[in-house]
Amino acid sequence: VLAAMQAHLDLYAAAAQRRAEDVVQVVGAALVDGDRVLVAQRGSGALAGKWEFPGGKVERGEPELDALVRECREELSVDVAPQAFLGEVPLPGVVAGGPPGASTLRVWWGRVSAGELVAHEHHEVRWLTGDELEGLDWIPADRPLLPAVRALLARL
Ligand code: C5P
Repeated sequence: VLAAMQAHLDLYAAAAQRRAEDVVQVVGAALVDGDRVLVAQRGSGALAGKWEFPGGKVERGEPELDALVRECREELSVDVAPQAFLGEVPLPGVVAGGPPGASTLRVWWGRVSAGELVAHEHHEVRWLTGDELEGLDWIPADRPLLPAVRALLARL
């Protein structure tokens, strides 16, 4: 009986481990220049036309800030220097493009350190002041982070 129980527990632990590895995490960048932050309008997919902070999925085993830098290179052709963590929002895994489970959108603020900004994947990018942010049609996940971004712009 004990052996059967142990086998059951082993199976259970293995399943939990697989779920943890499959969870998709998402990072976003609030890129700041002076009193403005870069916002980007999604060009295609389910959320086309919605505004977001650029970013994307963290690959398996990839450090979060490496993912942030990689995504900004891919999407915007710029190098970014992450500065500090701004905030996070729970994101259903299915929304993040993964299996059901606990995904999170984690947003850092940073600066463009090199490169000429080109929107490769977004329909449009804009540099906006804190007051201009609320009026956009945001993807739901990003909107709760706006107060933190506005507070940051106000204190820089
Ligand atoms: O950009 P990408 O499609 O790779 O992002 C994966 C998912 O992460 C999106 O489907 C979206 O739900 C979520 N996301 C988000 N906020 C961002 C960037 C991505 O919620 N700023």
